[in-house]
Amino acid sequence: MRNGKHPQPLGGVATANMLSVDLEDWFHICEVEEVLPRRAWDHLPSTVVADTEVLLELFRKFHVHATFFVLGYVAARYPDLVCRIHGMGHEIGYHGWDHELVYRLTPHAFRHILRQGVECISGITGSRPIGFRAPQWSINDLNPWALEVLAEEGFLYDSSMAPLKFIGSESYPRRPHALKLPGGHLWEVPPLVLKTPLGNYPIGGGWGLRCMPYPIIRHRVSRLNQRNLPALFYFHPKEFGYQGAIHNLPFIKRFVLRAGIWNTREHLARLLADFKFVPIGASLGLDLPEGMLPYNQASVR
Ligand SMILES: [Zn+2]
Repeated sequence: MRNGKHPQPLGGVATANMLSVDLEDWFHICEVEEVLPRRAWDHLPSTVVADTEVLLELFRKFHVHATFFVLGYVAARYPDLVCRIHGMGHEIGYHGWDHELVYRLTPHAFRHILRQGVECISGITGSRPIGFRAPQWSINDLNPWALEVLAEEGFLYDSSMAPLKFIGSESYPRRPHALKLPGGHLWEVPPLVLKTPLGNYPIGGGWGLRCMPYPIIRHRVSRLNQRNLPALFYFHPKEFGYQGAIHNLPFIKRFVLRAGIWNTREHLARLLADFKFVPIGASLGLDLPEGMLPYNQASVR
């Protein structure tokens, strides 16, 4: 960890849950290169600014702050949006540059993408991101090296390892935990899942949260908070607005993107009304003072 400090256990703010947003456009979807190729993105109608407004208004109404994991592609095109989100008191994290699956990258390419994003975001907000979330939870047993690269590049926490079959592993811890790595310590912050006889179910966001009856989600979060443990939720702007051309996508992608979509706003609003939420960095006690880690002085090697 930076300055040689060891991670502290989750303390008095533990019962504040963690709220996060992956700040990307509707066409930032992994593994659909044949339908939405990277070269077409610049010619597609962008809705990220309008869709994010819906989320920001909801957060304003409930006086909550979140972590926005910003995609480099979006930061480069809409710096004013990122600047405004930061100015409203939300934490700015990083979500990769072109929505790359991290396990398809080489360590060298991943390091380059991290530096590119840190430089871009630092230039917009004046402070460097300390948190990372990989597109489609793409840090798993295929690429444990990615955690070492994150720590070496000065990131203090990661939220990319899902305790779920297929995209991660049910063997992964279901609560925030500190990893000791050669490059330093790194917090790993998994999304909320519900343990069931059929395996872990993703109630922290996406189709899992949208399709699960709200009382079950509320019960799970209450139980965790009674034990001073936070739940991590994640949302996408596109869940609150337009999603073009997804009728051309494979069924599984359409399901993931649209199943229960009509419940999104209600479930989020009820969560915000029922529970306390803070950005991830604040929950971990890492909400460093503004400007304390300007990019040029960060421990980027
Ligand atoms: Zn994403």
